Amino acid sequence: MRALSLPTIDHRGPEFAALGRKVLGDMQRIFQTQNPILIYPTSGTGAWEAALVNILSPGDHVLMYETGHFAALWSKLATALGLKAEVIAMPGLEANGTPTSWRYGVQHDLIEARLRADTAHHIRAVCVVHNETSTGVTSDIAAVRQAIDAAGHPALLLVDTISGLAAADYRHDEWGVDVSISGSQKGLMLPPGLGFNAVSPKALAASKHATFPKAFWGWHEMIEMNRTGYWPTTPATNLLYGLSEACDMLLDDGLHAVFARHKRWATATQAAVRAWGLEIQCAEPSVYSPILTGVMMPEGVDADAVRKLIYERYDCSLGTGLGKVKGRMFRIGHLGDCNDLTLIAAIAGCEMGLKAVGVVLQSSGVQAAMDVVQRHPIPQINQ
Ligand SMILES: *Cc1c(COP(=O)(O)O)cnc(C)c1O
Repeated sequence: MRALSLPTIDHRGPEFAALGRKVLGDMQRIFQTQNPILIYPTSGTGAWEAALVNILSPGDHVLMYETGHFAALWSKLATALGLKAEVIAMPGLEANGTPTSWRYGVQHDLIEARLRADTAHHIRAVCVVHNETSTGVTSDIAAVRQAIDAAGHPALLLVDTISGLAAADYRHDEWGVDVSISGSQKGLMLPPGLGFNAVSPKALAASKHATFPKAFWGWHEMIEMNRTGYWPTTPATNLLYGLSEACDMLLDDGLHAVFARHKRWATATQAAVRAWGLEIQCAEPSVYSPILTGVMMPEGVDADAVRKLIYERYDCSLGTGLGKVKGRMFRIGHLGDCNDLTLIAAIAGCEMGLKAVGVVLQSSGVQAAMDVVQRHPIPQINQ
């Protein structure tokens, strides 16, 4: 916050280039890529649109996977742009007979099967969300790339890692992602206002033939200017100061340490939910999110009434259920700038709030979370 408040320098002046080059280089390390990064003054939604309009043409067929509300919004945006967005989702029923909804990661075999059937290679891109923030599911992106390759299909791979980046491991180059999309306000610990694209050489090549009209979002002019550390239009200078500081914090700690600490907080939160006797929204432990945990309410309990009570009594703001899980669950975040006691306090707020609305809890989630953090020594960066 102090970095953000520095006086705004001239974005065409001599000092600016050093800042521009630094943040672009730092963000390559955060995305784990050697390839260009684009930084726009926008929210995550703008960065979604930038990715699509740079590599695709009107009417192109894209294959999207509905892991949750954000994936659904992205496909809505693709349709609004004039793309033919085909959405696949997990089929089947839950044990109690309700349709499986938003509780699983991307099933890469469904993508592989769909691409194998597309023998004429009409599908131009596969779009998946890395960390589905509406549910707390972190999909296996390397497996999606393997599925595309196994099908022998040339589709580009686009990944929304808006909430995943800088909290869960993310490897743009190694995983063979063509466009990675992110934003400043989640794992990067900044206010909203910056959107990112990380691109591959294959995506850059595709962008030469893409015919969507684009001006502000166009990659090439920006990449050209970025070589010297400047932007074609006015960048969000103060957010870039903050980004520089956030990258220093993350890279000084080391990405491995950052990923480990969020995973540890996730483990503590999962233990709390289980101790309460409630269900975690993510039904597949191998894809539990290190960024947030979704807590499902027992039948007849309105999750938003619980959230409201916790907010008013304990000044603790929990994530609401979005889209088709509205009222059915709430979300506990453990991304960004967090520590053991912040998390345990939030879990205590949930425990008190759940009891206050009459939910019968099996045992203390606070105790279960404390047991986890005590059993797993704190990574040294948090001491
Ligand atoms: C927050 C988020 C978005 C939306 O981004 P905005 O910044 O609100 O435009 C999209 N996808 C995911 C996975 C998110 O977490």
